[in-house]
Amino acid sequence: MSAAAIAQADSAPAEVGPAAEAEVDTAGAHGAGAPQVATSPAWAMPLGHEPVDVSRETSTPLTDLDDVSRETVPEPVAAPLAQPQLWPKPPERKVVTIANQKGGVGKTTTTVNLAASLAQHGARVLVIDLDPQGNASTAFGIDHHESIPSVYDVLVQGADIADIAIPAVDVPGLDCVPATIDLAGAEIELVSVVARESRLRKAVDALETAYDYVFIDCPPSLGLLTVNALVAGREVLIPIQCEFYALEGLSQLLRNIELVRSHLNEELHVATILLTMFDARTRLAEQVAAEVRNHFGETVLKATIPRSVRISEAPGYGQSVMTYDPGSRGALAYAAAGYEFAVRAASGTTNGEGAS
Ligand code: ATP
Ligand code: MG
Repeated sequence: MSAAAIAQADSAPAEVGPAAEAEVDTAGAHGAGAPQVATSPAWAMPLGHEPVDVSRETSTPLTDLDDVSRETVPEPVAAPLAQPQLWPKPPERKVVTIANQKGGVGKTTTTVNLAASLAQHGARVLVIDLDPQGNASTAFGIDHHESIPSVYDVLVQGADIADIAIPAVDVPGLDCVPATIDLAGAEIELVSVVARESRLRKAVDALETAYDYVFIDCPPSLGLLTVNALVAGREVLIPIQCEFYALEGLSQLLRNIELVRSHLNEELHVATILLTMFDARTRLAEQVAAEVRNHFGETVLKATIPRSVRISEAPGYGQSVMTYDPGSRGALAYAAAGYEFAVRAASGTTNGEGAS
């Protein structure tokens, strides 16, 4: 992106002031190539929230429901389903590492909500929280104070994942291996351990539970924890935040992935890129999205995640947005991304080629 283009984006007229911006959801649906989530087909609707057929005059459009105070928001129009809607499943277990050493780009939010959406549609899912901050554990309502068994025990003590995984509070079919602050010391403790880069892989490969997906949420670094996640995973999902510095550091991440691929894990590849925190009101977001799509082609999911207050509120209630506010635009966007991910996984097009 040229400096002129950035300057132009910066000086684009602000349609909404910063204060309002914090409270109003912004739709990725309006972005370049982004899905029309408000009119998504039934698969994009979280279970129990498919719209009923009422006249437009009497219904409240979803776009008006989003991200205003919970007290004033009516419940989304919901039609209970007789049967849960099942999404296609991968032929074999898929181990996906969610990585980007840039902080705060939506790694954890993506891990949590993608995992929840897949579990809500019939998949058996395990999330491994590999960040000492324990944010994914928090979002599943799982206690992660220092004394509980955690991923630290798996990495450092060689514990079995099956003995450590805990069911997520509100999402049947989803288990989580929590992270505690102990993990912060694991990188140093692992230095003298034999095959220190493969500790997590060994534990994941030994797992007998019939998970369809294992998601590994990485910390914002390229240290030994992330290397363990890259060795354990068969594919990488990179969330990219739609802002100016989005691509900074990406080449370093790609180089590290390549290094791990050539020395430690030949299956590893970048299978999925997800554009997060897309703000349709800024030209900059559209430019970043266009640049990422141009560069990475079909690897980028068509679904784009909008910036949404509901998404950021959910972890405070120990929930994913999929359960906290299933009718919100953020939840619908993650459901659309989850469905796209499931279809690719089932058809074996996770390297992006041929994915549609
Ligand atoms: P870290 O590098 O620290 O692990 P991360 O990459 O995991 O961060 P998140 O924790 O998922 O990023 O997100 C960073 C912050 O942005 C969080 O407060 C989260 O609630 C918020 N956030 C993430 N996605 C969205 C979104 N689409 N809309 C609004 N807020 C979001
Ligand atoms: Mg995180």
